[in-house]
Formats: sequence, structure tokens, C-alpha cells
Amino acid sequence: MSDVDFQRQREQLIREELPMLGIHDVAVLDAMMSVPREDFVSKEMREFAYRNAPLPIGFGQTISQPLIVAYMIEALQLTAHERVLEIGTGSGYAAAVLAQIVREVLTIERHPKLAEASRARLKRLGYDNVHVIHSDGTLGLPDQAPFDAIIVAACGPSVPPALQQQLALGGRLVIPVGEKQGSQKLIRVIRQDEDDFDFEELGYVHFVPLVGEAGW
Ligand code: SAH
Repeated sequence: MSDVDFQRQREQLIREELPMLGIHDVAVLDAMMSVPREDFVSKEMREFAYRNAPLPIGFGQTISQPLIVAYMIEALQLTAHERVLEIGTGSGYAAAVLAQIVREVLTIERHPKLAEASRARLKRLGYDNVHVIHSDGTLGLPDQAPFDAIIVAACGPSVPPALQQQLALGGRLVIPVGEKQGSQKLIRVIRQDEDDFDFEELGYVHFVPLVGEAGW
């Protein structure tokens, strides 16, 4: 498939399908228009890059469905000067989208090969404001905290306390919480004050497990 075909498919998905499915945040849609999803999947998967579906990226992991990426990033209510922490770099796609919206993205991946591959890919594609860290994201990055927003791309049994504590005042955390292979809900936590957190349910989702000290 040529670049022109990919461009046409990208426009169809992002300018037509996603708005029909309820995504209206212009900053999110513009960011997704600028990121070539076909470059974040294997050669075999490229032709499916603009289906609104998750795709395998190896090691039993997936690049999330575009609608879910858009929905979660929209829910973070980001502004351009902010710093974001992502847990679960995977392919690096969501990190690249975030990097088009905010000042800096720190993203943690527990799988060493995925961390290495996404770091190289993001560098090659020129996303200089993304830093990939290989570690257990359930502990966050205490040295770099606080964060204006935290996004978690894997589902744990509960909200990891470290992530909640690493939110800035007014910070937003979006994370799927629930069963390993069953019912999972997307939760948004907003830190209103030092010890005052608002919890909100945003709907049912399906994610790979969050594996780590404060995960499975
Ligand atoms: N945002 C990704 C989707 C990643 S899928 C993308 O756009 O492609 C979820 C990822 O979370 C997987 O790569 C998995 O290895 C990773 N993961 C699971 N538990 C983790 C943990 N405790 N810390 C960091 N990454 C984790």
C-alpha cells in the first residue's frame, strides 16, 4: 500500500469514524492525523493499520484500538505545556500521539524488547520529547513526579497508590481497573487537593494485564 493510500485511510478513520463514535477534541484528532500508525506495527500488520481495532505487536501485547487511544487522551483534558506519564509504551503509538499535544512524555514499558524497539522507533520518527523508560510502571517515576496527567494502557486489579500520589494538584489519571480476563472499567481520578481525589467511571473496556508490584 502506498503512502497516499495510508493517508486516505488515516483521514477516513480519524476525520470520519472517530467523530461519529463521539471523539470531538480537535487537538486529539489533529495529533492522531499526524502520527503514521502504520509505522508502529509489523510489516504484516501495516495494511490493517487504519482499522479501528487493536493489533498484535508481539510478546502477547497489542497496540490499542484507535478509538480507545482517542477516548483516553481526550479524558486526560491536556494542555500544551503539560508533562504526561504513560504506563505501557507497547509500540509507542499512544506516546507519539501524546507527544504532539503536550510538552513532554515519559513512558514506561516493562518488557525490555518492546521498550528498546519503541525507543528506537520514536527516535527514528523524530519524537524528541518522548522518553522511554524500562521499568515497572505500577511504581511510577517518583524522581520525576509530579505529573499533570498519567495514562495507563494495561488493566490492574486496583489503582496503584504510587500513581495516585504522583499526580500534581489538578492532575488527571486515566486507568482501566478490573478483572484480568473479564469485566474492566475505565476510571478517571482527579486530584483536587493533597488528600482529595475524585473517582469517575468512564465505561467498559478490554486491556492486557498490568503486570507488576501494584498490578497482577
Ligand atoms: N500504549 C501502547 C499499548 C500498549 S499495550 C501502544 O500505543 O502501542 C500495554 C503495554 O503495557 C504492553 O506493552 C505491556 O508490556 C505493558 N505493561 C504491562 N504491565 C506493565 C507495567 N507494570 N509497567 C510498564 N508496562 C507494562
